[in-house]
Amino acid sequence: MKIRKQLYADIILQHMPVGAAIYDAQDWRLLAANPCFLSYLDTFVEPRWQHGQAVGHSITELHIQVQTSDVSDIFARVAQSGQAERVESMAILTPQGTLTYWNWTLDVLRDEEGHIQYLLQTVIDVTAQVRARRAAEQQRLSTVLDQLPEGILMADAISGVISYVNPTAAHFLGMTQEQLMGMAVSRLQSFDEIEACNQPGSDGSPVPWNFFLIQALSGETIRSKETVISHADGTRLNVLISAAPLYTSNGMMSSAVLILQDITEQKSVEQQKNEFLWMANHELRTPVTIIQGFAELLVQSEHGLDEETRSALLNIIEQSEYLSGLVESMLDMTRLEQQQFQLQLAPHDLLALVMRIVESQAVTTSLHQLRFVTEGIATTDELICLIDRERMTQVLSNLLNNAMKYSPQGGTIEVGLRAMARTSRQQGSHTYQEALIWVKDQGIGIAAADIPHIFDRFYRSRVIDRSMSGFGIGLYIVKEVVTRHGGRVWVESAPGRGSTFYLWLPLKTQS
Ligand code: ADP
Repeated sequence: MKIRKQLYADIILQHMPVGAAIYDAQDWRLLAANPCFLSYLDTFVEPRWQHGQAVGHSITELHIQVQTSDVSDIFARVAQSGQAERVESMAILTPQGTLTYWNWTLDVLRDEEGHIQYLLQTVIDVTAQVRARRAAEQQRLSTVLDQLPEGILMADAISGVISYVNPTAAHFLGMTQEQLMGMAVSRLQSFDEIEACNQPGSDGSPVPWNFFLIQALSGETIRSKETVISHADGTRLNVLISAAPLYTSNGMMSSAVLILQDITEQKSVEQQKNEFLWMANHELRTPVTIIQGFAELLVQSEHGLDEETRSALLNIIEQSEYLSGLVESMLDMTRLEQQQFQLQLAPHDLLALVMRIVESQAVTTSLHQLRFVTEGIATTDELICLIDRERMTQVLSNLLNNAMKYSPQGGTIEVGLRAMARTSRQQGSHTYQEALIWVKDQGIGIAAADIPHIFDRFYRSRVIDRSMSGFGIGLYIVKEVVTRHGGRVWVESAPGRGSTFYLWLPLKTQS
């Protein structure tokens, strides 16, 4: 009876689709294993240990690596702690190149006195279940992605070909899903065109959409970049693009995803709004200039004016100057939006320019003391560089006007200019100059929450007294002008503690 039971147990072990192996707990020698286990072992040991040759040898001799850990480490842990360990869905590539998945356990067997005598390993092939689960997940994901109004594309990190495209993306790109699937991302545009995009959009031309996918495949994350997709039939689509690399749990880049949003309609509404703003301001410009001109003429007239009339006329002049300033800012803003804002660069002395603006603004206020400081240069020096003099005057006047407007209690306003020599490492010994200009006031300051938006179009701090006139376009123009000079602007401020606006400019002496 006992013999028959043993026979049955052997038959079960020989034929069951679960691999089982027993090891000596001391030296981890493989004592015995069923055929299923041995064929599993054959998939990742050297040929000399295959076909049962491993029996009688310690697991340490087999040098087995699973995923990121060494099998010997797992054996050591289990043998020492007596606690079983389980590895789920471990991926193993067979010598034939097929990816298989296995669950395995390592447990201890004790003798009658409770000492660990053997280690028992079981392995189960779960490839079919893992594949079915992945396929279902993929299917579910595709069902959702296929319905989205956003275009989604995925490209494989190793091959660089498109591995998924939803119907919306195919529609946006004017191709079929079949045409796009399997296509190399870089093949969608010639190499020269991609090279030309090293400075995307710098020349105002739209960046090819796949350039962003290439960037994502090189590890970059791209957020909300605008570009244009041109179709063969001549239609154009304005799109907003975001792209990012995707990583596996062990940190390897597996693919990159690109999301396309159609913003053609928004762009067209924005365009109409800009055209309206342009027209309205253009129409206002002439009458305002005429009103101001006539008022100035009357004030200067030979015939004596009574004090009341004279003061009314001066008021008209002041208000028309303010109005024409607003009209010009609005026109500048629409020029910027329509890409019609051109800098007239010419060599000018930046130091003389800043000094002149400070002097002319100082006479307009009795409430504030304007102080001009220099660092790294003497006021007798020259700082010749390529700038648009009118635009730079507008920038500094805007900052100084703001410093006065937002310091209603008065106080000192410091305008500083520091010139610096910098050696570029990339260009060897080549040295060039840069300048830092700051306008520091002791006014109401800016809340931390407003600082990231302060240079945005139409943005005004939420806490300012609305009786302080303004439209929120001055700083937007400041930023655009400085950026187009290759510079940067930023602000440091705290409510009640004043603000310091900084302009950093590279001092280019030739184009
Ligand atoms: P405007 O002054 O016409 O509102 P700006 O674009 O020049 O527009 O400024 C935007 C906003 O930034 C202002 O409304 C104000 O809230 C804030 N701001 C600008 N300069 C200062 C400053 N020196 N101190 C405090 N707040 C400022």
